[in-house]
Amino acid sequence: MTDYDEVRTCCSGADICKKCWPFMTVALKILDRALREDFGFNHLLWVYSGRRGIHCWVCDKEARELSSAARSAIVEYLSVIKGGEYKAKKVHLPETLHPSLKQADKIISKYFEDLMLNKQDFLATQDNCEKIIAILNGKEFLKSSFKESKSSQEKWEIMNQIDDVVMQKGVKNRSKHFITEVKFQLCYPRLDINVTKGLNHLLKAPFCVHPKTGRVCVPIDVKTVDSFDPFSVPTISSLCREIDEYDASLKEVNKLEDIMDEGQKSIATKIEDYNKTSMRTSIEIFRKFVKNLV
Ligand SMILES: [Zn+2]
Repeated sequence: MTDYDEVRTCCSGADICKKCWPFMTVALKILDRALREDFGFNHLLWVYSGRRGIHCWVCDKEARELSSAARSAIVEYLSVIKGGEYKAKKVHLPETLHPSLKQADKIISKYFEDLMLNKQDFLATQDNCEKIIAILNGKEFLKSSFKESKSSQEKWEIMNQIDDVVMQKGVKNRSKHFITEVKFQLCYPRLDINVTKGLNHLLKAPFCVHPKTGRVCVPIDVKTVDSFDPFSVPTISSLCREIDEYDASLKEVNKLEDIMDEGQKSIATKIEDYNKTSMRTSIEIFRKFVKNLV
């Protein structure tokens, strides 16, 4: 999420909140689709890092044996945002969109309004409006349209209307995909290139505990990623509490139900500790992943 600091309005650095977490949801969906459909990888495990990001373990044999050069090529293919802090326009799309970019556009478009205009309210500040105007090669007329205090939604609509007009006029040297380029610059995934291409780079294992937040690095199910809440991820202390509570309630049940035979009782006490906690579903996701891989 740190790499999203220039496009998020709510937090910076290692902080995250419910308003910016959806950037991760968009990233996960775009990358998951590309890795599966464009590259044919099947064994992807998405893991919450415990703090501000997500990792993807691509465990297909073919992926595990790729050279650094091949890894770099894949990252290159998946990198759309280019240029550092001082480059205003970081996305340049070719006239004919690659099918992979078309799919990414569809995913971003589904989230754009709620994420950038509602949650982030990105165009509320003059600073951010200036950034967008800079991307659009300093379109001066936008400045006056943006000046009156309008909501992010209204400003975005104005931009789209202007884009339609400019498009019809057929202005020279103008990208056909201006609006898409802006959307990509704001929402397309940012990758950590070094983790991806380096064969000796460390990557935190699933179910580690993040030392700063105490949260467990739990796997994320792609199908339910929209409802994944990093703030409800278990911590060491919440897990200990859940186990204690489960054991205490079991004792109560045993006291009441003396009719339970010894066999039933031993089954109840044999329950693995993780099954007594909210981490049960995370273990299920991991089990399923490992089973498919084996
Ligand atoms: Zn935030």
